[in-house]
Amino acid sequence: DLVLVSGASGFLGTSVCLAYLEKGFRVRGTVRSQEKGDAWVQKHPQWKDKIEFVIVKDVAGANAFDEAVKGVTIVAHTASPFHYDVKDNEKDMLQPAIEGTRQMMQACKKEASVKRVVVTSSFAAVLDMARLPAIGTTYSDDVWNPATYDEAKKSDNPAFVYCASKTLAEHAAWDFVKTEKPSFALTTVQPPLILGPPSQVIESMKSLNTSAGAVWSVIDADKLPATSFPVFTDVRDVAEIHVLATTEEVAKGQRYLSIAGHFDNSQIAEVIARHFPEQKHRLPKVDKVEVPEHFATDSSKVEKQLGIKWIPFEQSIVDTAKSLFALEAQL
Ligand code: NDP
Repeated sequence: DLVLVSGASGFLGTSVCLAYLEKGFRVRGTVRSQEKGDAWVQKHPQWKDKIEFVIVKDVAGANAFDEAVKGVTIVAHTASPFHYDVKDNEKDMLQPAIEGTRQMMQACKKEASVKRVVVTSSFAAVLDMARLPAIGTTYSDDVWNPATYDEAKKSDNPAFVYCASKTLAEHAAWDFVKTEKPSFALTTVQPPLILGPPSQVIESMKSLNTSAGAVWSVIDADKLPATSFPVFTDVRDVAEIHVLATTEEVAKGQRYLSIAGHFDNSQIAEVIARHFPEQKHRLPKVDKVEVPEHFATDSSKVEKQLGIKWIPFEQSIVDTAKSLFALEAQL
């Protein structure tokens, strides 16, 4: 079987490609340039005969994925902007997220070989930022972020705009299925902050993807940085959920909130100091290691239906830090 992974050069996209390859699938990845595809193969040469790349420069362009889906049976749509460097809310964030998803849905409907589609959504499409820390609320798969396009268009808070982009993109996917009745089955996944070792091509420690950057921000900091988001899942678990979301019968039509647990940056600093004593001098002083109280989450559906056993926080941080220190030494 041939799997199409959009955003194959990204942090999650690379891990999703690797997860399918390790299960024996052939993979076609979409990238924005030939160089990105070449660099991918250079980084993971063992897969060079099992992976190919197509160039999709603009995910929101008309018929963006029509060529890419040819002959594919499974699609994992991970491509979407995840950063807070937004100048034009619509052009930089909302359109690639929403229209990119719509383009993927349309391409899949036209290609009869496509049987299963997983769209990477986010916990951002579930939680309501205005209510944080939302003590007493339990977020589960059937909760939706109420953000609207108009609010997001006008907002000067890039995190709000990102959350809205994910919400509206996921709505676009489900609305498409409802109105167009395509022959493929859709599944969506809602991960929180994704931790774990980056496997994508990284050119410099300054151009880390947003979530690896959140771990790295603790290193060489004068003062412990505020926790950007207090819930996590390891990238290897998120990648495995994408695979199972497209291979397991039970996953058809499901939303999977996929949260391993809560954390605080004080714990990141403490775990790194304990496991990498030679790097301890680069970590800010931590007065107290604690996780403040906030909302609760319920990911029992993905645990039960797909048999997911979460990689624990400590292992995720140790593996992330190990890979980032190695990268730093090599770049
Ligand atoms: P990355 O920035 O590493 O990856 C994003 C991918 O999408 C890259 O391949 C990027 O291409 C591609 N992309 C972004 N914008 C465009 C665009 N306008 N046109 C074409 N391609 C584009 O981020 P992540 O791997 O972290 O994110 C992947 C997915 O996971 C996203 O859908 C994100 O919303 C979701 N997610 C991530 C979380 C996290 O904590 N990391 C948490 C929850 C959800 P290029 O490499 O060329 O820039």
